[in-house]
Amino acid sequence: KSYEQLADLDKRHFLHPTTAIKQQQANGPEFILTKGEGIRLYDLKGRSAIDGLSSLWNVNIGHGREEIADIAYEQMKTLGYSSCFATFSNEPAIKLAAKLAEIAPGNLTATFFTSGGSESNDTAYKLARHYWILKGQPKRKKIISRSQSYHGVAMGATSATGLKPFRDFTNSLAPDFCYVDHFSPQALRDKIKEEGPETIAAYIAEPVQGAGGVHIAPEGYFKEIRSICDEFGILFITDEVITAFGRTGKYFGIDHYDVAPDMMCFAKGITSGYAQLGGVMISETMHNDFIELSEGTLLHGYTYSGHPMACAVALKNLEILERENLIDNARVMGDELLEGFKKIQSERSIVGDVRTLGLIGAVEIVKNKETNERFPEPLAPKVLAEAAKRGLIVRSVVFDNQDTLVFAPPLIINQQEIHELIQILSKSIEAVERTAVS
Ligand code: PLP
Repeated sequence: KSYEQLADLDKRHFLHPTTAIKQQQANGPEFILTKGEGIRLYDLKGRSAIDGLSSLWNVNIGHGREEIADIAYEQMKTLGYSSCFATFSNEPAIKLAAKLAEIAPGNLTATFFTSGGSESNDTAYKLARHYWILKGQPKRKKIISRSQSYHGVAMGATSATGLKPFRDFTNSLAPDFCYVDHFSPQALRDKIKEEGPETIAAYIAEPVQGAGGVHIAPEGYFKEIRSICDEFGILFITDEVITAFGRTGKYFGIDHYDVAPDMMCFAKGITSGYAQLGGVMISETMHNDFIELSEGTLLHGYTYSGHPMACAVALKNLEILERENLIDNARVMGDELLEGFKKIQSERSIVGDVRTLGLIGAVEIVKNKETNERFPEPLAPKVLAEAAKRGLIVRSVVFDNQDTLVFAPPLIINQQEIHELIQILSKSIEAVERTAVS
């Protein structure tokens, strides 16, 4: 089918996720993607572009990996599906759970599998609350999250999401969620006291806030958080949906902060997007308590929990990640990316703060570098459009008076490709700067 035919069907029948509907109806899809290879995506109009966000922060090992296709094919041929309820299990799921226990931060030893990040978040809240029921403290049900956080779109995950526009999308949220300021441990302490420590089940945070604008927690932040959680007996959940599996230059984002979480949510990078898989890990202590205190059935499970094909893909994905030293590469190329951002910052009058942690990064657009004053209308979306024209796909973040471009290229990116990315970005910012300050 031609682009026009597909665009017409798309407009009539495809209700897109996280999309401006009027714009989609007026313009149709900008890219109908046909192929991915390495760090690049190709579309029906014959164009190619660097996938500067690893699609949705997930295609860590890059596109077009035949090894992954082969393992999925083999697994689907042998056992395409297996329940993991009750007495059923399967080899890829068992091996993956064991592998995760080997690499996970702290003392996380057991995994509950889901199909993605939102399900992982809802699962984490329910497991945390169930844990407190088993421990004889059923009043502990509130989940505290941060004001610029993003945790997904299931009902619990939306309710935990600090970014207000996501919560305002619906007119009824799940009860027992509350929010604290960004990077202030004191705010958490105050909130716990205000709500009553005996009512709090868990505190959840992303080590690097991704969708909220790539905000990297300052050094020492999570150490303080951990000690506050310990002081009040609250579970600490790290939401590693974006940051796990090498993105930040370490296996997990929380590894930068040297603290042990009680629970961890993951998804995306576990399969590099090749299959739908997520999960929640719990500590050995929690697992033992579940085993000891649980009388009945763990009444929480998805049809696709422990899907054999998805787990086989995840195992191969982790094998590739390790074999090709992609976590080290993320660290080294992350430094290269930061160098490039800093060069653009020194050359362009509208570039404010730039930051990276491994291969996740941000470039802020400002009217005044000294005062951080923003333009009345954010310019990052314009830079994004200029970049797309020149063959680079990135994302802009304009929540909460931000005007930011965010980046998370595949972990396979090399020096030459970083330079290409930086060159396109520089030209795109220059083009927008010319119109903005003229
Ligand atoms: N948690 C975080 C930190 C995320 O960034 C995301 C998605 O971007 C989610 C949860 C939700 O994951 P999913 O879109 O797979 O449901």
